[in-house]
Amino acid sequence: MANDADLRHLRRCVELATEALEAGDEPFGSVLVAADGAVLFEDHNHVAGGDHTRHPEFEIARWAAANLTPEERAAATVYTSGEHCPMCAAAHGWVGLGRIVYASSSGQLTAWLTDLGVPAPPVRALPIQEVVPGAVVEGPFPALAERVHELHRRFHGS
Ligand SMILES: [Zn+2]
Repeated sequence: MANDADLRHLRRCVELATEALEAGDEPFGSVLVAADGAVLFEDHNHVAGGDHTRHPEFEIARWAAANLTPEERAAATVYTSGEHCPMCAAAHGWVGLGRIVYASSSGQLTAWLTDLGVPAPPVRALPIQEVVPGAVVEGPFPALAERVHELHRRFHGS
């Protein structure tokens, strides 16, 4: 179950997503937290330059592979404003990171973008557990998901 620390980290993810939006990028933000609660790494989307693999969850997986032991990775938690896409879920699974807590789900994002008339992305949105069957995931959280929804409305100009 999510606790106060989980919600604090999720709120930080929404802040990072807001920073991305204000920098002209897609509103996604993520934080990697160690077993002892220390924030290890945080990032937001950097796809505006044209590289659409620059998702924060992918950066987290690569940072974790380079900087943490397998045991530290398994004990860490990834917080994110929006559920991982299949690329990021696969990276998460391959490097053996631990629990994922997301504010909004891929299903919500798909519905929001459809409502906004945004063309379907080239990569299908899937629940994380369809990509990483053993993943431990929590979310969405309605109040925070509504804030993420608002960021996507702003990004797509409505
Ligand atoms: Zn992704």
